[in-house]
Amino acid sequence: MSNALAAGGGGESLDSVGPASWKEFHSAGRGPWGQVADAEWNDWRWQLKHRITTLAQLERLMPSLTAEERAGASLANAKLALAITPYFFNLIDPADAACPIRRQVIPRIEETHTAAWEMSDPCGEDSHSPVPGLVHRYPDRVLFLTTDRCASYCRYCTRSRLVSNAAGYDFHPEFDRQIDYIARTPAIRDVLLSGGDPLLFNDEKLEYLLSRLRAIPHVEFLRLGTRIPIFLPQRITPALCEMLRQFHPLFISIHSNHPRELTTEAREALGRLADAGIPLGNQSVLLRQVNDDPAVMKAHVQKLLMCRVRPYYIYQCDLIAGSAHLRASVRRGLEIMDSLRGHTSGYAVPTYVIDAPGGGGKVPVSPEYVLSRNADRVLIRNYEGKIFEYPEAADGAPLFKALKGFEEHELA
Ligand SMILES: *Cc1c(COP(=O)(O)O)cnc(C)c1O
Ligand code: SF4
Repeated sequence: MSNALAAGGGGESLDSVGPASWKEFHSAGRGPWGQVADAEWNDWRWQLKHRITTLAQLERLMPSLTAEERAGASLANAKLALAITPYFFNLIDPADAACPIRRQVIPRIEETHTAAWEMSDPCGEDSHSPVPGLVHRYPDRVLFLTTDRCASYCRYCTRSRLVSNAAGYDFHPEFDRQIDYIARTPAIRDVLLSGGDPLLFNDEKLEYLLSRLRAIPHVEFLRLGTRIPIFLPQRITPALCEMLRQFHPLFISIHSNHPRELTTEAREALGRLADAGIPLGNQSVLLRQVNDDPAVMKAHVQKLLMCRVRPYYIYQCDLIAGSAHLRASVRRGLEIMDSLRGHTSGYAVPTYVIDAPGGGGKVPVSPEYVLSRNADRVLIRNYEGKIFEYPEAADGAPLFKALKGFEEHELA
């Protein structure tokens, strides 16, 4: 394991929380685990085994726990389990009740408040599932659910109906049936492994699964959705990277929401994946009092580029039951998008999407740049609000028709 992971033991990471430090890289440090040997701390299995999973552990480590959090933690095991890796726990600022890391992983009593429009399966995944564990929503690609476990649990998880199994969903994927469906559906060219977190599998199990998918001739493209580089960067071992590189083209989408999640440990882990030739994207969820702020979001997307990760999506938070306290408005999301485009590198600007409630798929939502349009001109505005006119061009026939016409002409 890399020495860099063991570096930086102090608590310096939390001393300077604020705009000036958002883009600085810090180690998560050891926090309360100062006596643990390096070899253990840097071992992903040690981190998993020592996760914080009970209210009693939380109270011992965080005397500043609020009444809302205490009540939330005591009820979590009936809805979405509480679990936080020691590494990620150290990113919480215990002195700050509004800490953006804290809000993502520490349960609150508001999770038990459910509005009429909230759902347990907000994206209608179960109704688009031809075999258990497979969601076939789009014609050419499938979502392959691998496990119901994650290294830590996000309180707003769109799949909290099944993830952690606290709600009794009893998710038992049958890989043979999932793979068989893909093998007999030639339209599927893209398989997205998610969950739960597929990188919680050991290397052998993951290699087996990826090999079986790679053996299907019409599967062109593989990708993994994972929050492991953020929750458990110790899992990104050189051996894992060596194994993954056999399966190119393989892309990975990570899930990071706030610049403070991008530690020196996370940057090293992401660097190992990038060095294995894996293109990296990031998916963020727009969360109230976590990242619903143009300055935070801009620092985050720029810091992602420094970690060799291309911001891919910002999701409007799904209407998952008990998430109202974490949802920011679409209005705010649009304001953030307007503050990014043109104001920073195009590579740093993700697509803002709403996953249509009930199962319509991801719908991009964007500030208006086209002010008006008719047959002969388009009126646009730029990132500064300046207005420009573009004269509309004539259209040719669609290319395939033009070619067909050409062939018929040649044959005549
Ligand atoms: C998000 C998602 C995909 C992948 O969508 P892309 O826009 O191609 O990244 C595929 N299937 C399901 C069910 C999804 O939710
Ligand atoms: S890592 Fe992903 S699947 Fe796991 S709890 Fe968080 S959002 Fe849900």
